[in-house]
Amino acid sequence: MRASDDGASSTTPAVAESGTIGRELWTADVAYAGIGSALGGAGVAVQRRPDGDRTIVALDTLDRLRRRFPDAPTVEHRAVLAPPAVNAHTHLDLSDMPFTPGPYGAFIAEVIAFSHAGRRGEAATRRGLAELRAARTTTVGDIVTTEEGMRILLDAPDIDGVAYWEVLAPDPERSEEVLAATERAIDRFSSWQRQGGVRVGLSPHAPHTVSPRLMVGLTALARRRGLPMQIHVAESEGEQTLHRRGDGPLATALAALGASWVPSGRSPIGYLEDLGVLEVRPTLVHMVHVDEDDVRAVARAGSAVVHCPRSNEALGCGTFPWALFARHGVSVGLGTDSRGSSPDLDVRREWLAALRLHGDGANAAQLVWSAVKGGARALGTRPRAARRGEPLDALSSWTLPVH
Ligand code: ZN
Repeated sequence: MRASDDGASSTTPAVAESGTIGRELWTADVAYAGIGSALGGAGVAVQRRPDGDRTIVALDTLDRLRRRFPDAPTVEHRAVLAPPAVNAHTHLDLSDMPFTPGPYGAFIAEVIAFSHAGRRGEAATRRGLAELRAARTTTVGDIVTTEEGMRILLDAPDIDGVAYWEVLAPDPERSEEVLAATERAIDRFSSWQRQGGVRVGLSPHAPHTVSPRLMVGLTALARRRGLPMQIHVAESEGEQTLHRRGDGPLATALAALGASWVPSGRSPIGYLEDLGVLEVRPTLVHMVHVDEDDVRAVARAGSAVVHCPRSNEALGCGTFPWALFARHGVSVGLGTDSRGSSPDLDVRREWLAALRLHGDGANAAQLVWSAVKGGARALGTRPRAARRGEPLDALSSWTLPVH
């Protein structure tokens, strides 16, 4: 059995003669078991069986492994050995949308046009799921807009995580009607949930695309039903100006949709805090345009955050302040966002993008933790920990870029 069949890293290791039983050291720039810390300069001690299968003996720093197993040969080096990464934020029903780099406003117009053309649905969701599986990701936070998409996720036997039902309704006149329809939909979806499978969640799209009254109603619904919630927040700079002053590009876009907007004068996070939304600890996606007060509020609430580095870069939305969140101890996961703003759904490539973007401000081991444990926390699940005695295949292998 090979350690991994994923990515470009599936070279067969140069091991001792076939049939030999023995210990081997698989070294890695970062190794992570899914519990504890991700370790830099680390590795996995492996027991090789006569049938060629390999099981995990220990995962530790390379120094300690070499002291424990001085005679074990090093057979393979990998960039990362870790449980499969979690894609904590995506939109699988947009998997047929062409990659459309920004600017942000033009991208949103493309998504709306794509949606109106009826191209979000079952086929796209299935293709997106197949792409996740090919990257060995089976834990996902997906924003769902169709019943078919919800059914596919809740029926998938090998997938867990959360399918968040999206609500997008800025018109305050429609808040009661939309809330009632959402509650009926949640009732129906909840009856399709399976033990150990994907859970039903709720996603008010963004602070400015759901009216305040509806946002409060959805928060109460999430609290009553124990639904995990996920919201896009502070993605573009225009979101700040909309909330603080009521003008800017998002104000123009909302006016074009016939929606009125009364600015609170607070930041988007301050606004959500005032409405009581942070009390249900929603997972907050993007969080690029935030200040220290916002991050303090998120830390106080205990909300997790999802960072989508390639999407933010493609849409010209700015750079996620990684160090600020780290300083306040906020748990950060990684997500690809949709195929419209990301060239693929492989979270390991988000890890690479984050390494490049944050430079010395973040390290590879912290980012591996984020891609695995941070993502699991964002979805309220547990990563599949790779323990002693388990097949080496429980760890996936991530590669560094060749370019
Ligand atoms: Zn998104």
